[in-house]
Amino acid sequence: MILDRFERPLRSLRVSVTDRCNLRCQYCMPETDYVWLPRDNVLSFEEIGRIVDAFTETGVDRVRLTGGEPLLRRDLPRLVEALAARSAIHDLALTTNGVLLMQHAHALKLAGLHRITVSLDTLDPHRFATLTRFDEHRAVMAGIDAAASVGFRSLKIDSVVIRGVNDGELVDLLEYGRHVGAEVRFIEYMDVGGATRWTPEAVVSRREMLRALESRFGPVVPVAEETSAPADRYALPDGTVFGIISSTTEPFCASCDRSRLTADGMWLMCLYAKAGTDFRRPLRAGATQEELVQLIRTMWSLRADRGAEERLASERRLPLIPLAALKKDAHLEMHTRGG
Ligand code: SF4
Repeated sequence: MILDRFERPLRSLRVSVTDRCNLRCQYCMPETDYVWLPRDNVLSFEEIGRIVDAFTETGVDRVRLTGGEPLLRRDLPRLVEALAARSAIHDLALTTNGVLLMQHAHALKLAGLHRITVSLDTLDPHRFATLTRFDEHRAVMAGIDAAASVGFRSLKIDSVVIRGVNDGELVDLLEYGRHVGAEVRFIEYMDVGGATRWTPEAVVSRREMLRALESRFGPVVPVAEETSAPADRYALPDGTVFGIISSTTEPFCASCDRSRLTADGMWLMCLYAKAGTDFRRPLRAGATQEELVQLIRTMWSLRADRGAEERLASERRLPLIPLAALKKDAHLEMHTRGG
């Protein structure tokens, strides 16, 4: 197990398999035009496998596949199967926007995927079309039903809460989650790279969410558990469990054991990091497994990232990255980092 400057272990790797997406969620891709990663730079499944192997040698045992939208990547079940066959990976999960999920849920399960998280911010098809600029709400709901029916180890629904947009749907989303057997996680709107329309006023804090839910369901109790997972979990009086990810108002950097790999092999040790470590070039230049492992050991031991805490401490909180800088470097975009 390797530790960083704050004695945080490296345990979890989010692997983006594409920077492309078939939605344009306002809190992630609000602009009309985007700079994409060159296709030739996108890692093959074999290259992803080699890099993941190097990470598992340093203690990573949780892998989450992300995008953009990962289900846009052709033959994704083939990668899932290859990763699921690796005994060092104890938890293999995927985050999707659900648009293509109905077509892929069964194949992902057969390939060995353990858990799935679907992003769904509203139960209102019109609000969905406004939020994402695509009329795909019905497809997402069908995708969630399909995922619920094939029976993954867990099914979660992630909802980014924005004031004046979907903050009136907390109760409905929770009840919908209960209905389909999914655990709902509410996410505070984050000022990450790409969230060019972010304002502090649009953030609904964890405290506000808990107050709203308690006024409807009665006292909510925290679920006591030792975990480095980003969500704080709570139980309603009837035992229904839900989570809140409060990175904007109550960051959890102190226990962060996560890092991210972009689809072209850039390793980012924090969602707010301005720069990363390139694995594609050394890999394609013939680096040995041992050299990749050493690169991970060296870089992680130097890690001191606490991005969300620094953002909270900053006086004037504006969107993290100016549009001009995003146009110059696609790696700064949240959709390239996989959230
Ligand atoms: S902001 Fe960075 S250090 Fe903090 S929890 Fe997120 S990824 Fe980890």
